[in-house]
Order: sequence, then structure tokens, then C-alpha cells
Amino acid sequence: MKRTHTCGELSQDAISGSTTLCGWVDTVRDHGGIIFIDLRDRYGITQVVCDPDDNAAATEVAKSTRPEFVIQVTGTVRARPADMVNARLATGSIEVVGTDVTILNRSKTPPFPLDESKAEKVHEELRLESRYLDLRRSSMQQRLQKRHKMAIAVRTFMDAQEFIEVETPILTKSTPEGARDYLVPNRVTPGTFYALPQAPQQYKQLLMIGGMDRYFQMARCFRDEDLRADRQPEFTQIDVEMSFVDAEDLYGIIDGLLASVMEASGHPVPELPLPRISWHESMDRFGSDKPDLRFGWELKNLAPVFEGTDFKVFGNVLKNGGCVKAINAKGLAGVPIRQIDEWTELAKSHGMGGLAYIRVQEDGSWKSPITKFFSEVEIEGLKSTLEIETGDLVLFAASESALVVNEFLGRLRIETANQAGIIPENEFKFTWVTEFPLFETNEAGRLVPMHHPFTSPLPEDMHLLDSDPAQVRAVAYDIVLNGVELGSGSIRIHDPVQQGKMFDLLKISEEEKESRFGHLLNALAYGAPPHGGIALGFDRLALLMAGGNTIRDVIAFPKNHKGIDLMMDAPSPVDAKQLHDVHIQLDLPPEVEA
Ligand code: ASP
Repeated sequence: MKRTHTCGELSQDAISGSTTLCGWVDTVRDHGGIIFIDLRDRYGITQVVCDPDDNAAATEVAKSTRPEFVIQVTGTVRARPADMVNARLATGSIEVVGTDVTILNRSKTPPFPLDESKAEKVHEELRLESRYLDLRRSSMQQRLQKRHKMAIAVRTFMDAQEFIEVETPILTKSTPEGARDYLVPNRVTPGTFYALPQAPQQYKQLLMIGGMDRYFQMARCFRDEDLRADRQPEFTQIDVEMSFVDAEDLYGIIDGLLASVMEASGHPVPELPLPRISWHESMDRFGSDKPDLRFGWELKNLAPVFEGTDFKVFGNVLKNGGCVKAINAKGLAGVPIRQIDEWTELAKSHGMGGLAYIRVQEDGSWKSPITKFFSEVEIEGLKSTLEIETGDLVLFAASESALVVNEFLGRLRIETANQAGIIPENEFKFTWVTEFPLFETNEAGRLVPMHHPFTSPLPEDMHLLDSDPAQVRAVAYDIVLNGVELGSGSIRIHDPVQQGKMFDLLKISEEEKESRFGHLLNALAYGAPPHGGIALGFDRLALLMAGGNTIRDVIAFPKNHKGIDLMMDAPSPVDAKQLHDVHIQLDLPPEVEA
């Protein structure tokens, strides 16, 4: 070995011993001819001292080093003088007196400082271009180590529960997870393509049919979606599938899994079982299918207060079977009017006429454009329903569609809570959201699966499948942490007849049924066990556990917001021969040709 210790290892009990360390020069300082080097590796930082009076040759080499040079230092460990002890470093009570310093490799001056306090201010694109340098920063090192510990915890836990990790193909066939596929041209059969998996959904179900009983995989998934701030075209899921279970069994397993991941990443273990809320209740109370339970400010139904009101705006909506609700943003009565204007714009973008509000002023009086239309009884009703106090800002929403009201107020609930700064940062509030609707209606007015077409309807809603499919609930669930969807899953349809019927309801043609799902329908006909599963976004979980500003902070080599790997410069053009080999001719838009 080129070293006897790491740079994070030496402490007082090593004093007087000899050591050889290797690492990067973090800083080098010349104090009147005596050279001090902070030597850094993944494990920590050790101070090296070279004194020309003790060892002129070593000091000469030490003096010629620059930050990010790679060096090897042999020397003796000694205690630092009492006034030089650095309590912030694990190695802060010792230093190494260098007797032999060798430069193993030199370094150009990095394009940005690796110093934690300065690097955060560097433009992220610059850091991504030289990610190998960015990875040397201690925060990146710590986050990737935590991610590793989490992955180990997942594997240990799943193994103990009799799950086996099975790899599924990357070159495969399109699966309906709702995004666009990445395609790979097939040289051998011209005109055919593989798709990269959006998720191993069909494989994991086929593994259950194959008798594997309990499967998991740290699975890489690929989705060609419009990129958003915290989205990556490729990402990792903890993919899980189990046979002979119902949703209850699955919740138990995932509760335990999350508890052990929390523990492995140094967070308090949550009380189990994790709470559960139905999709319907979650939408009603929090206006979201991923409720942030770290604070209250629930949506309150005002139908009982305004039933038969003279105030037309609410009265008409209620008469037509619509919905009137409000939230109480505590303490926000004083927000500037332009803030209210912004939220009004938000209301309009959700299809509402405007935003009605009440500001409860210091003297207890109400400032509001609408309360003059309310009766005494209505005002009393509002006060008690919303627990109104001095300093509160009450925000209303009314629409014939309850979904519109819920989604808007749910969004406003988060925005106002952020504005008020009331969301605790170091709390972890998990919840299961259960019984999602089986279908939703897409923009073209067509029924599409809310999860995916393999999801089983809730048995007690089965009778509605033909008459009122939009009302059918599914045995589908999400696990949510602090308002973030960590994962979704479902109990699957295991009966081929029912699966065929589902495709029919979704208006999937016989031809498409055969070409896209024939293999699954066939397999289901050979004694498929009842089964179900879930997939948890591992990157997102790592971000919540290990900290960081974006999902890119917990991925070693992420793509930027345009899906580009700036370091490798991928994607990039390929040469004509490669295209010819895979039978592809380009038909580029004129602006790209130019
Ligand atoms: N394949 C689904 C997804 O990736 C998860 C599941 O149903 O287990 O969201």
C-alpha cells in the first residue's frame, strides 16, 4: 500500500508513531519558511508540517506543491501545541511532521474553488463540467457516502425479508408509465427499436408469474419527459414486487424499509405503522395527493356556512352542486397587496374568477372586499370553522368543480406556509395515500389509468366499472414524505380476463393489445399469483435524507436541466457510418441544419 493511514484516521493515540499518508493538497501555507499543508482525502484532513531546520529536502518539495497536487507524505505524528488544536477536525489534535514528501501528480489550477464556502456560489454548470473536481468537495463526498449507506440498508432489509434482487433488461420494449420512451435502433433487424425501460413494471410482474415470490431491484429507469428542476432523464428506483399479498402486507414491508433507511442515514426512526389517509380525504383536507403534514392550515368546507346565502358568488356555486372552501393562513394578514395580486393570478390560472380574502387587522376588524355581503350568522360560522384570530389571512375559493377548488387551495396552502416560514425543516412526516381513483380523464376527454393499466380496482367498486368508471377506486397507493411523493404502487390485476377488460375500457385496440401486451396476457393465463408492488424514487429519498439543493446533488454524474451531461458532452452527434450501420437517416429541423 502507498499509505499506512488515511487523512481522517490519526488521533492522539498515534502520537510518536510513524505514518505515510496520500492525498490532495487542500491548502499550503508558508509561515516564515515552515510549510503547513492540509492534506485531504475522502476520510478527512490532516495537517502536515515541514520545517527546513529538521528536513530541508522534504520542506523544499512541500513548498513547491499547489492546491490539488497529489502527494505522499511520510513522517512522525506529534501533538499540536495546545493553542493550535482544531476541535472541528477529527485529526485536529495532531499533526504529521513530514520527513519525506513525494509529488505523485501535479494539478492545473481548478476552474473553480473547491472550498465548501466558495464552491456553493459557483455556477452549477461550471461545477458539472468538471464534476470529477466537484466530487472532491466534502459535501459531495458526504452525500454520496450517505446514499451508499442507504442503498446498503435497503439491500440488507430486503434480503432479511426474503426479497431477492433480480436484474431486468435495459434494452427492452415500451412500457406504459406515461412518459415518452428513449429508443435504441436495432442494427440487426432494420427498422426495429428497443426502448429503455421507464420502469421494470412488466418484468417484475412476470417474475411473480415465474414464482420468484419476492423481488426487488435498485432499478435504473429512463423517461423522456419535459425536464423540470428536479427531474432527471435517468433515475434509480427501489423497485419491489410481492406475491400472495394485499396492500396491508405491502405497507408493512415498506414501513420497515423506510425506518431502516432513516436509521442508516442518521435520522430518528419514525413511529410505525406510518399514518394513512385515503386519496379522497387527502384532496379534501390538504388539496393534494401528496400532503405535507408538517403543518396544519387545512382546507375547510364552507358549504354549511353559506348554504342559502345572499352572497351570489358563493350561493350560485353551491346551488349548482359546487364547492366553497377556505384556508386560514395564520399571521399573514400583513402581506403586501402585490402578494395577494400574485395569488389572485394563481387563482385565475386555476380557472377561478379571482381570489376573495379577509385580513384580520390588529384591532380585530376585518378588511375584505366581500364580508359586507355576509350575514351575522355567516360571519360567526366562518369564525368558528376557520378559528379566525387577529393577524390571520383567510383565502377563499369557489368553483363548480371541487377538484379545482382543492387543487388551487392545496397549492396556496404550500405557498402561504412557505411565505410565513412555518414549515419545520428537520421534521420527517410520512403518510400513505391510499385508494387512488383507477382512472383520470386526459385532455382529450379520454379515460386513462391514473397509475398504470395493470392496477387492480378496489373489489367493492368493481360493480361500477361499466356504469361509472370515473368513480372506481383502485388498490393503488403512494408513500409521501413532507409533501414529496416518494413512491407509488398497486395491487395488480392477476386475472387475464379482467386485464383484457381493462384494456377494453381504455379503448386499447385488439391489435395494440396483442402487440404491446400479448406476452403479459399470455403469462397471466398460466396461473399468475395475486401480486402487487411499489417503486420508490431513490434519488429523491437520498435528497431528503442526505440534504442538498437539488436532486443533482445526490447523483454522481447528473444531467443538467436540459438533459445534458456537460462533462461528457452527451448527447452528441454521431458519425455518418454509425448512422448508416443502424439504418438511420436524419431529418433535422432547418434551424439545426443551419
Ligand atoms: N412501475 C411503477 C412506477 O414506476 C411502480 C409500481 O407500480 O410498482 O411508478
